[in-house]
Amino acid sequence: MSEAEQLPDVVPLLASNELVTFPSMLLPLAVGKEAWVRAIDSVAPTHKTFAVFYQPETVDPPTVESLAKIGCAGRIVRMLRLPDGSIQLLFQALTRVRVVEITQTDPFPVARLETVPETGERTMETKGLSENLRAQFQKLVREAPNMPEEMGVVITNLDEPGRIADFVAANSDLSLSDKQRLLEELDVNERLRQATVLVTHELEVVAIGSRIQSQIREQMDKGQREYYLRAQLKAIQEELGETDQNEAATADLRERIEKAGMPEEARKEAEHELERLNQMNPMAPEVGYIRTYLEWMASMPWSTSTQDSLDLIEAQRVLDEDHYDLEKVKDRIIDYLAVRKLKADMRGPILCFVGPPGVGKTSLGQSIARALGRKFVRMSLGGVRDEAEIRGFRRTYVGAMPGRILQGIRRAETNNPVFMLDEVDKLGADFRGDPSAALLEVLDPEQNHSFVDHFLDVSFDLSKVMFIATANQLDTMPPALLDRMEIIELAGYSEEQKLEIARRYLMPKQVKEHGISPEAFDLPEETLRTIIERYTREAGVRNLEREIATICRHAARRIAEGKTQIAFTPQDLDDLLGAPRFHYDTAEAKDEVGVATGMAWTPVGGDILFVEARAVPGHGGLILTGHLGEVMRESAQAGLTYLRSRAEALGLPENFHEKFDIHVHVPAGAIPKDGPSAGVTIASAMISALTRRPILHNVAMTGEITLRGRVLPVGGIPDKILAAHRAGLNTIVLPRENERDLNEIPEPIRRDLTFILVEHMDELLRAVLQPEVVTEEPNLEPVGAGLRPA
Ligand code: ADP
Repeated sequence: MSEAEQLPDVVPLLASNELVTFPSMLLPLAVGKEAWVRAIDSVAPTHKTFAVFYQPETVDPPTVESLAKIGCAGRIVRMLRLPDGSIQLLFQALTRVRVVEITQTDPFPVARLETVPETGERTMETKGLSENLRAQFQKLVREAPNMPEEMGVVITNLDEPGRIADFVAANSDLSLSDKQRLLEELDVNERLRQATVLVTHELEVVAIGSRIQSQIREQMDKGQREYYLRAQLKAIQEELGETDQNEAATADLRERIEKAGMPEEARKEAEHELERLNQMNPMAPEVGYIRTYLEWMASMPWSTSTQDSLDLIEAQRVLDEDHYDLEKVKDRIIDYLAVRKLKADMRGPILCFVGPPGVGKTSLGQSIARALGRKFVRMSLGGVRDEAEIRGFRRTYVGAMPGRILQGIRRAETNNPVFMLDEVDKLGADFRGDPSAALLEVLDPEQNHSFVDHFLDVSFDLSKVMFIATANQLDTMPPALLDRMEIIELAGYSEEQKLEIARRYLMPKQVKEHGISPEAFDLPEETLRTIIERYTREAGVRNLEREIATICRHAARRIAEGKTQIAFTPQDLDDLLGAPRFHYDTAEAKDEVGVATGMAWTPVGGDILFVEARAVPGHGGLILTGHLGEVMRESAQAGLTYLRSRAEALGLPENFHEKFDIHVHVPAGAIPKDGPSAGVTIASAMISALTRRPILHNVAMTGEITLRGRVLPVGGIPDKILAAHRAGLNTIVLPRENERDLNEIPEPIRRDLTFILVEHMDELLRAVLQPEVVTEEPNLEPVGAGLRPA
């Protein structure tokens, strides 16, 4: 209501507990009450003005006290009379007013009013407050979900600070009493401030609301999305007839899992994965992995085991039936089984057979399994460098599989097989982890009852498994593993033993395998011996068995061609097996000066070697030929130094070394020539050459020599002795400390041989040097007479 316009003297008064309005607001009103309809009718044709007051508690007719202190006077701007007699109108509030007196109550209340001016100075603060309020309100319009955008436009167009506050108050979500409070606040700055507080509060409420809203939406979205996708997938699967297929395809797995007798942990995991599989699209890439996993889980022998029949007499019988000789080895196996019988929990060391290939390590393991009534599996550890090969690859890798241990167990189909771990000495270790650590865990009875393979990822009980290890040599065995092993060494067989093994075991076995009747075919002893000597060079009998198999194939063919009786002679072997492959050195035919026979050890068994020495005119030099290794060269030097220190006792002139060079040569191409064990042989050859006394040709020797002539023990004695025996030597000179090794020599061979045990080179020389001085080379006089044999 502008300054010019005055309020009419008295105007009708609308009291309501439902609305508070502010100057400048347009208020739509539906008026049905008869008294009010009449009031409006009374002003409509003239000044169209009335007043609206908030009345918290209804009092009819209204009294001044019942009304709020301040209300709004305004004018009707549009009006619509409805058929039912009620009126729809648009009321434009114009100014704050106060009731001076109520002049009439019947038929409707009428009051005399006075306008109430705003107070407060318009300062910079007013401007700041109103700008801020406008901005806040616009923000509210943007963020509150239910406020029309136009409000933001309207407030932009308001200049009057009082109107800004009023507009905000009218359009915020405030309680009526809060609104009334703002209506009654006449100080514009204060009203702006209060409105700002209200809007800020409102904004916070909206922010919290929208945060909650978005959280809810997120959850809803996710849930709905999943629900929606699953529903879709299901529909598609049904359309394709796959749900049934899924269930059908896993039904078999489910049954096997149920029957597998898994422990709780494994069963839970399997069922969980099975559930996942059922829910999956059959095309999903994981389906393959999960299937493989479940196949493995279902086929592990969780609770399948064989019943042990631990009868020691039966065990002995089985071992004897399968193996020739090896008495000591069998004894130790029986001892081991006896302890097992008394102590059922399988704790204690792991048996480990050590020896060259083909000596029967595997077949002993098989016999143990047979004797116990257990399944037998073997796995080679040769070249295993990756821990994962023992412990498996994690399921997340493409093509992942359990490690070799569990693979073996699955193959055994029982959880208590005899499990042979071959070539433990060839286990590697590098950046991919230390497989021997994993293996230790497998073998450790404290830990192996809950062995966790990375692939299965649940523990499997290995404690009932009987592990047996095999190795070719002990040197390269990881020490931690060695600690856990009970070592049983198998040295290799002599020719005689091989002959027996071939006759009694290999031949019958191969003849049977080739479907030949034993009466129709035999190999005479002489032929077998030739095969052993000329076609194989090995400590064991593996190649021998192979050659016999080849011959059996030929025999089978001839029988198929109609022959009834076959016996191959040594002369036939060229045709059957080709030209002989090996030639062994045999003992020298007669005693010679400067030639000593040594014994060497190689991985395929022992061999003999000849050391030749010659003294030639010179200046004390030592010439070494024959591709000698470093250690062997040093033993030659040591031998020479010893020789010089003993010149007098040996009958050599004091300055002999100034007139001679000594040339030592070791022929025999195939043998690796390193190691200290030829020390005594080299020294003997040199002394023989210098003293011109021949060395007995039937004597083989081995031993390390010190500068003072002491003879120290060396390794590989059994193999060396077998080789010497094979070569036809009948006297063996050994370091005394090697005496204990003689127990390992098979009795028939030991009987053929004479052993001389020595501690000092002097003893050795006395035994092997012939007394006569030979001077067949006229220009080389002997340099001394040397020690006489005792
Ligand atoms: P390793 O495991 O030591 O390499 P194997 O156990 O495979 O050797 O033996 C090779 C073959 O020789 C097998 O057929 C085995 O039965 C046979 N064999 C080895 N030693 C004997 C023995 N003492 N008596 C009978 N057969 C033997």
